[in-house]
Amino acid sequence: MLMIAAIIQALAGLYVFYASVLALNRMDSQTSHAMRLAHVALAAGSAAMIVSCFVARDIFECLSAVGMALYVEGNRRERKNMTNLSEHFTLEEMTASQTAVRKGIDNTPSASVVENLRRVAGTLEQIRALVGAPVHVSSGYRSPELNAAVGGARDSAHLQGLAADIEVPGMTPQELAKAIEGAGIQFDQLIYEGTWVHVGLAAGPLRGQVLTATFNGGRATYTEGIA
Ligand SMILES: [Zn+2]
Repeated sequence: MLMIAAIIQALAGLYVFYASVLALNRMDSQTSHAMRLAHVALAAGSAAMIVSCFVARDIFECLSAVGMALYVEGNRRERKNMTNLSEHFTLEEMTASQTAVRKGIDNTPSASVVENLRRVAGTLEQIRALVGAPVHVSSGYRSPELNAAVGGARDSAHLQGLAADIEVPGMTPQELAKAIEGAGIQFDQLIYEGTWVHVGLAAGPLRGQVLTATFNGGRATYTEGIA
């Protein structure tokens, strides 16, 4: 029994080691240090797991090794199930909404919305390359019901999947907006909204409008430029 446990533990350890080394290989200069460190720890931990199954055979240790392997595999599968719109942006993050989940609102995009989101993802790739850091999307596509629920503008570009509200860790939204404005990246609207930056495209010609939104009792007023 303990022999079987040792073999299972060794296999689980090998798998975690293999998966974490693969993940380390795929990382680039824009991967966060925490993520890199986590995978180095995972690789070291799984190597120790393999060694320890020859030294101290313990059924609980075997079970935790299996748990770790299942966790790593589950994570890998979840990532695999995502639809990539561009190298770094997935359809899932461009349609995710906590409000939609909480209120049971369907936020499934149509095929034409997905094509628009792909265009936005292309713009976000340019921004990601510009700032040299991951870009976090807090809101992308919004179905009419979701847009109403979050108090979005009636003609919001989010409704067509033509906009994304973004943040970059380590930069203030104002710094981010100014960086995008100064980079010559094409957009229809760039709005500095205080705690995030709205980047919008359009079906027609792009206006290159730069605005600052100020909120008064939930109502937004817009002024030109980044204040
Ligand atoms: Zn927005």
